[in-house]
Amino acid sequence: MPFEGCKKLWCNGKFINFEDSKIHVLSHALHYGSSIFEGERCYKSKNGSAIFRIDDHSERLINSAKIYRMELPYTKEDLNKAKIAVIKENGLEEAYLRPLVIRGFHSLGVDPMKCPVDVWIAAWKWGKYLGPEALEKGVDVKVSTWARFAPNTFPALAKCGANYMNSQLIKMEALLDGYSEGIALDTNGYVSEGSGENIFIVSKNIVYTPPLGTSILPGITRASIIVLAKDLGYQVIERIIPREMLYIADEVFFTGTAAEVTPIRSVDKIQIGEGNRGPITGKLQQEFFDIIEGRKPDKYKWLTYIE
Ligand code: PMP
Repeated sequence: MPFEGCKKLWCNGKFINFEDSKIHVLSHALHYGSSIFEGERCYKSKNGSAIFRIDDHSERLINSAKIYRMELPYTKEDLNKAKIAVIKENGLEEAYLRPLVIRGFHSLGVDPMKCPVDVWIAAWKWGKYLGPEALEKGVDVKVSTWARFAPNTFPALAKCGANYMNSQLIKMEALLDGYSEGIALDTNGYVSEGSGENIFIVSKNIVYTPPLGTSILPGITRASIIVLAKDLGYQVIERIIPREMLYIADEVFFTGTAAEVTPIRSVDKIQIGEGNRGPITGKLQQEFFDIIEGRKPDKYKWLTYIE
């Protein structure tokens, strides 16, 4: 059931019942894509429920607002408190959190600046994004015929609703063609990212990922995996990746709040490595889950416990 456990949403400082969480059809965001948002997880760890990298998600939301000249009436601390309150209010142990900031109801010119900035936070129970088997067996993906937007068109560092029209094209094409996900190239033809995931390649024990300048979202899981890989002793290089490097890589995997660390077993029907989860992907996945599920100490202070 979608939105299971989502009984109350937080809106501009107050709780509202799920049924009453509505906006006017003439709200600016509905017409012009003027929304920014976050997607984060609250994990049920061995030591209690904890939100993963709460500060970094609040900071990215604040940055998205700044890029789009939206005045957020809340500080990082206010947002953090509100996210914790939403989890508690709904009695959730394990959840997906969706902070959303929209240009609301006022007028419908393209100029959004007179429209109010409304802040919502929802949370609900959520399972594995690419299916429970994906984490172990890997997924089959294709390179999309759709490119990511050029850097001087939409700012990729902002997690804006409008960007996800591009993601939807990539995702729909992949699903209708029988793949789990699509990988978009940037407008120069280099590997960018999935419709909702960053991408990593392992080649000869070196871990590569495309740099921020290739129209990617600055993923928080991506940043975490870079730290974990370096601490496990791997060299990590952020560099331009040509498409064909995917095909000849030893391992390829996605990272994201939803996808976590998902191995890719084929790209464009070309088998990657042995066609299953590669050893370095496996190690990084294990390390990631050991920390977020509380089996290993939270040495990077990534977890914020809900009491
Ligand atoms: N790229 C895109 C386009 C995304 O939507 C996401 C998911 N937020 C990611 C990458 C991964 O980012 P994160 O690890 O912060 O979830």
